[in-house]
Amino acid sequence: MAKLVSVFISERYRRFVGFGIWLVTFAAVLAALAWHSTTRTHEAMRFEAGAAIAHYGQLRKNFVSTFEALRSEVMATPCSPRFIRQLEAVAFRPDGFNEFLHVRDGQVLCSLTSPEPGQQPVELGRPDIPPQRPGGVAFWLDRDLTFLGRPGLIGTIVVREPFGTVVPLQEVDLSAPSWMRLETVLALPGGNWRHRLGEEGIYGRAVKAGPAGDLGSLAKGRLHGNFCDPGGMHCVAVEANLLAMYAQQPGVVAIALLGAAFLASYATLQVQNLITGYWSFEARFRRYLGADSIVCAYQPVMCLETGEIAGCEVLARWRDIDDAIVYPDRFIPLVEKHRLTMQITKLVAERAYRELSRMLPAGEHLQVNFNIFPCDLDAPRLTSIYGGFLAEPHRFSVVVEIIESDEIPNTAQREIEALRRAGIKTYIDDFGTGYSNMQNLAALSVDGVKLDRAFAMAPDNSMMAQMLNHAVEMIHATGRILVVEGVETAERLAMLRRMKAGIDFVQGYLISRPLDIAEFVALLAAYRGGGSPARNRHAA
Ligand code: C2E
Ligand code: CA
Repeated sequence: MAKLVSVFISERYRRFVGFGIWLVTFAAVLAALAWHSTTRTHEAMRFEAGAAIAHYGQLRKNFVSTFEALRSEVMATPCSPRFIRQLEAVAFRPDGFNEFLHVRDGQVLCSLTSPEPGQQPVELGRPDIPPQRPGGVAFWLDRDLTFLGRPGLIGTIVVREPFGTVVPLQEVDLSAPSWMRLETVLALPGGNWRHRLGEEGIYGRAVKAGPAGDLGSLAKGRLHGNFCDPGGMHCVAVEANLLAMYAQQPGVVAIALLGAAFLASYATLQVQNLITGYWSFEARFRRYLGADSIVCAYQPVMCLETGEIAGCEVLARWRDIDDAIVYPDRFIPLVEKHRLTMQITKLVAERAYRELSRMLPAGEHLQVNFNIFPCDLDAPRLTSIYGGFLAEPHRFSVVVEIIESDEIPNTAQREIEALRRAGIKTYIDDFGTGYSNMQNLAALSVDGVKLDRAFAMAPDNSMMAQMLNHAVEMIHATGRILVVEGVETAERLAMLRRMKAGIDFVQGYLISRPLDIAEFVALLAAYRGGGSPARNRHAA
């Protein structure tokens, strides 16, 4: 899980995630455009096929009406001169048919063009398309019409006994865009077909592709459509070469690609904003701040006179969801912004109590310093929060350090006194910077003062280093406990020891960096065993 989440929160992966989102969106937009374009192409195919279908529809209507005309207008004795004259009358109708036959039991007995009586009947044989019902129409496709006195001509003989007519090969205009090819077929019983017009083979491929098309043809950039007249007799199959179609419209394709890229970039930005918002440090911290994610580091506080570890300052850390340890400079501003100050004070106190009460050896006494925000200087609540420690006065004493944050409230003095009565000492933290000014020192009866680490860490002979001496003297004069933090070198420690005015406690990397509970207890044991141990170089 942590690994997965780190994909969202690490800068390293963000680019990959972004690219992934872009790619997926780009592909989705292209797929949508392709779908739209195939739908439109299919419509164009239907339109092109429609003209041919309409022609065949009209043809069918025509011979149906012609047969009706023959039935009602040709009454004379079959093959008689009067019969032929009546046939001629129907042939004048403007429906395109001008050859009529008299057919009985599949035999042509006479026709308009060869009316001579006494002629041998012509056997038509088995029809290519037999009648669908008794009295229906039968077709003999592509027959040589020599027997009708038209040598060299080919036509389809359509018969509804006792009449028949000849349908010449149809010239249908199949003109279509160059990227589209058509084939007209006549559907035969049993699923066969006869090629009529256009490019042979298209119908076969369209039938194979089926009504929904097939992915194989699509992958080759080919789209098939098969359109039949309502009787299902004439069909026009269309094959569109999509690649050729796109090649003819480079401008449209370029705009579509650019549009897809733009949309993908926009979507990526939006999704990334959502992800960033949801997984931003601020959002993560607010969502996951709790007893399990707060970690305590313990920085030893040494008594300058005896060299003993008298206590520790508890420093908060936050464990991010990818297990990275986050330092207070990152989350303290969020704690203040979202008014989580009391919550964090409580979480730190509870965790520190759980760890120290379990790990501190019996018989040891420890002063435990906590950092609190000025706005939380509320004696009843703090007394309750540190209740565990206060209930074991033989093991722990509690100090709260009012950190350098917002202004110390007017009620501070009253609260400090109440805290003192409850057994909690109060220090001003980071003295010498910002709000922790002289006025506070004079106005508040705090128990101690922690000199800002900038003094002890200042380079030798710097203005800050010179001020250290004066600051120490001044605080000493007020009778407050004095802690100097930020002691990093043995020389600075020796210098502090040499000062006339007394410094009570020192704290800094020279003594130890902040440690986890196991390391801190080990360090404590080493000190108690005599002498200062090797310094721990790893910060908790
Ligand atoms: P602070 O109270 O002044 O804490 C001391 C900071 O100085 C700690 O940084 C500590 O690691 C660092 N430090 C100690 N000795 C040395 C040294 O010799 N050299 C240097 N360069 N640094 C040293 P950290 O842990 O990052 O804490 C920073 C600040 O965050 C603290 O400053 C405190 O204001 C705040 N903070 C930490 N934990 C809590 C907490 O539980 N509650 C509240 N309200 N604030 C906290
Ligand atoms: Ca502090």
